[in-house]
Amino acid sequence: MAIKNKVVVITGASSGIGEATAKLLARKGAKVVLGARREENLKKISSDILEEGGESVYRVTDVTNPEDNQKLVELAKEQFGKIDAIFLNAGIMPNSPFSALKVDEWNDMIDINIKGVLNGIAAVLPTFKEQKSGHVLATSSVAGLKFYPGGGVYGATKWALKNMMEVLRMESAMEGSNIRTATLYPAAINTELLESITDEDTLSGATEMYEEYGIASDRVANVVAFAIDQPEDTNINEFTVGPTTQPW
Ligand code: NDP
Repeated sequence: MAIKNKVVVITGASSGIGEATAKLLARKGAKVVLGARREENLKKISSDILEEGGESVYRVTDVTNPEDNQKLVELAKEQFGKIDAIFLNAGIMPNSPFSALKVDEWNDMIDINIKGVLNGIAAVLPTFKEQKSGHVLATSSVAGLKFYPGGGVYGATKWALKNMMEVLRMESAMEGSNIRTATLYPAAINTELLESITDEDTLSGATEMYEEYGIASDRVANVVAFAIDQPEDTNINEFTVGPTTQPW
């Protein structure tokens, strides 16, 4: 399989979709490099992977810090001798109506969900250009495809990813660097994501919705694995993945 022995860096690997993806890829023979802020979680996930016979290292990483992203990529190269793919998955979703004026949360979403992804791209691009191969995957959201009240800023950050990832792919094709990109648009996936919501009405609406429809993180992990497993000459640009029962 194309996935075996690939070195894959994953941000937002300390819970939810990132954790599920790290474990699945490791089971399929990839060497995973985990980044997020919560060290205890990273340590536990990495040791779970090692216990199962997989290969994993981690580094405490705040994606808003460019140097942290660089060091995570360096760790992959030091530990495993190369880097094949990066899954830019870290994100927060403190949704609220604009009228609640949660300006600090707007800025946090821009810093983590957009600038965090740009920092990851900047960290990996020189290596991918030089080796003329590499795979950049990012977690957008159905909020990056549709509009919904309460998601004005979150959705904007996720719409931004669509543009960034597609233009990265186009430029890489034009420049001959063969970098593949894949953007994921998950719907309701049961993770810790709702814990970032501080607006009470928004939180109760979202909790109700996730309790009704939410599916497990490994459903998204399966899709990431599928994208990485494709032959080098094949790019799968986009995936929307969500519960069968969720109407929007
Ligand atoms: P979780 O809250 O479980 O995971 C979010 C991850 O992002 C955690 O590992 C968290 O780690 C990490 N993270 C947050 N801020 C930072 C930061 N500054 N630096 C590094 N890591 C950070 O939720 P999900 O697994 O659901 O979220 C993963 C991605 O999926 C997000 O981008 C989210 O927007 C997206 N998504 C999720 C959907 C869902 O329904 N769950 C639907 C659509 C998209 P730590 O706190 O340890 O730093």
